[in-house]
Amino acid sequence: MSTTPTFDLLIRGGTVIDGTKAPRFDADVGVRDGRVAAVGDLAGASAARTIDAAGLIVAPGFIDSHTHDDQALLARPDMAFKVSQGVTTVIAGNCGISAAPLKAGMKLPMPLDLLDGGGGQRYASFADWFAALRAKPAAVNVAAMVGHSTLRFTTMASLDREANAGEIAEMQRLLEESLEAGAIGLSTGTFYPPAVKASTEEIIAVGRPLTARGGLYVTHMRDESSQVMEALEETFRIGRELDVPVVVSHHKVQNKPNWGRSQETLPFIRAAMQRQTVCLDCYPYTAGSTMIRTDRGMLDGRVLIASSEPHPECAGRELGAIAAEWGVEESEAARRMQPGTAIYFLMDESDVRRILAFDDTMIGSDGIPVGEKPHPRLWGTFPRVLGHYSREVGLFPLETAVWKMTGLTARNFGLADRGCVAVDGFADLVLFDAGTVRDAATYEEPTRPAEGIHTVIVNGGVAWEGGRSTGTRLGQVLRRTPAVAPAGAAA
Ligand SMILES: [Zn+2]
Repeated sequence: MSTTPTFDLLIRGGTVIDGTKAPRFDADVGVRDGRVAAVGDLAGASAARTIDAAGLIVAPGFIDSHTHDDQALLARPDMAFKVSQGVTTVIAGNCGISAAPLKAGMKLPMPLDLLDGGGGQRYASFADWFAALRAKPAAVNVAAMVGHSTLRFTTMASLDREANAGEIAEMQRLLEESLEAGAIGLSTGTFYPPAVKASTEEIIAVGRPLTARGGLYVTHMRDESSQVMEALEETFRIGRELDVPVVVSHHKVQNKPNWGRSQETLPFIRAAMQRQTVCLDCYPYTAGSTMIRTDRGMLDGRVLIASSEPHPECAGRELGAIAAEWGVEESEAARRMQPGTAIYFLMDESDVRRILAFDDTMIGSDGIPVGEKPHPRLWGTFPRVLGHYSREVGLFPLETAVWKMTGLTARNFGLADRGCVAVDGFADLVLFDAGTVRDAATYEEPTRPAEGIHTVIVNGGVAWEGGRSTGTRLGQVLRRTPAVAPAGAAA
């Protein structure tokens, strides 16, 4: 018998893009005990398993900065829709919606029910939810925020008003308890009915526990249309009052009269960054997706039905065609299909490109893992940025594209030793072909896996190869390390 091999896994002959925006370089990568143990010429090394990466890029596993995967992590633990793209970590609990704390038995209002597809289990606390994730790990890591709408639903008898002092105190207690259990911040969705009536003052009050713990304030803002500047100002004010970093989720300017206004919002965000920490993310599509709703100008453009509880046969069809068939107005047809989800074509390509190309923009899918015909961003976001926007459109170099989905995201969310190919960092890695990587998911065929993603490694274990999940599930629950140094820097 021979001596113990140097590494558990040796990735030989690849080109490393390390997630820091630094130029690529040729190197072997050795993995041991779930961490990167060596990067360089490892010609003499032995390993339990060697992967030939000749002709491939070796990058940090992608971090999806904006997901609604809270229930999917347990219900679909292979997470093929994410791992197939090279994603190794997801940020959950967005838009005010989280898997905990929830009471059993109560019917969730839209959009909180987005997480409930398939009758997912309820978790009374973040400690319970994290315990379930640790007992039955998913294929990807997760870090999660507490949803303000979820707190309101759990705490308030009626959601159509501002919270009173007693309810605010109870929400603070639940937030504190969740942060203690490992939640990384608070998310809001004041765009949505369960939180529309929450005032700025309510959010600041509920968010008080964030300050001492260095938690994040993450928001699907009140308005991404004609009042987008006011919504940004409210977001920045909440961040300043609480003295915490803010994340503007899926930044966009929607509805045709507002097209082009990313030329106002981005300089405004840049100016705010001079005095406080502001982060933002974006998905690479001109259509959004959320619950079926008929207000707020949501039906002003083309609308595709993604899922409908009363009318599942309508998934994948145009709202206009359904309305014509039924002989009713589009708004009436939409009402009849509630509850459900839809895809709304409300953005302009030039705004999407301008926001994606903004230096500090992270990549987040905002995918909703529900139904047969989801928005293609669920399966396509990351390869679309790498293949379409970086390689074909030339929006930014590949190194920048990778940084926007790895190092930048790990820094902003405080994920220590993630997002970088560096010695002692966790071995979350993706091997892909820079010449062929592309999204294959379309609005018509939204669940086609991406092309060009060769191998995906999570905490040292191969989770995806040969175009399929391996069944290896080593995902961890990640905590936030405030003001984390980039992976690779001194620990
Ligand atoms: Zn949202």
